[in-house]
Amino acid sequence: MIVVPREKHVYSFGPNMKEVARAKPGDIIVFETLDALGGQIKSEEDTIEKIDFSRVNPATGPVYIEGAEKGKTLVVKILDIEVEKKGVIVTAPGAGVLGSKVKEPKTRICEIKGNFVYFGNLRIPLKPMIGVIGVAYEEETPTGTPGPHGGNMDTNLITIGSTVYFPVFKDGAYLALGDLHAVMADGEVCVSACEVAGKVMVKVDVAEYKLKWPVVEDRDSYYLLVSNENLEKAIEEAVSLGVEMLKKANNITWDEAYMLASLVMDVQISQLVDPRKTVRIRLPKQYLPQLQP
Ligand code: CA
Repeated sequence: MIVVPREKHVYSFGPNMKEVARAKPGDIIVFETLDALGGQIKSEEDTIEKIDFSRVNPATGPVYIEGAEKGKTLVVKILDIEVEKKGVIVTAPGAGVLGSKVKEPKTRICEIKGNFVYFGNLRIPLKPMIGVIGVAYEEETPTGTPGPHGGNMDTNLITIGSTVYFPVFKDGAYLALGDLHAVMADGEVCVSACEVAGKVMVKVDVAEYKLKWPVVEDRDSYYLLVSNENLEKAIEEAVSLGVEMLKKANNITWDEAYMLASLVMDVQISQLVDPRKTVRIRLPKQYLPQLQP
């Protein structure tokens, strides 16, 4: 097993990434991660406006995956996620969907005990997930920005048991991840989730086909994840690709696939608050038995 310590992290998914470890298809890798704020917030007096933004969104890695050549697909199965005992939620004026209503920066520290996150008197079921996970991209892209390479997709389906597929842009893929959340709802409306440090165990593999955007697989469905500054453009691209996938998988015309999509393909929102917003379409395996890009 390969263990990548949290001190080995990056802030950008670019063309010149340098590996800190190497893995082969079938290998198991453990990534130890800092929280998305770089561990800088320790109490409710520490607000987001006081922190060093050059240390935000650290992603542990990258790991060079042998055989993950440019044009192929990196397959990452999430085997386990462990989070620490304290999580942080932040918001500030201008942040998130209702930022204009926020008068001053706020921080809330949440205890994580057993299978719950404690928010004041409220007990929220723990659902750990990975906010930032991605591979080297052709353009230098901060870890806080999602794109075709993955990155800050803040998608709560990227959790224990799911598999994430990434297009490979550089030989070796250069997988890095971080920004764990103890729990996050779709949208991530206040700009942060319950941000937490922890560790993630994954198994890596390589597939021969070529993808345009990352895909998440769970037991019943495939989800295509598209990010764009403009939400409607993200939706249009995701729907368009989804219709093509339904057309091919079911051997039907484009018009038929478009109509079928209206019946079985859900359009969902992952997050609305990062530099590019992330949407996803859900393709049930009944209508897309195999990932066929
Ligand atoms: Ca995030």
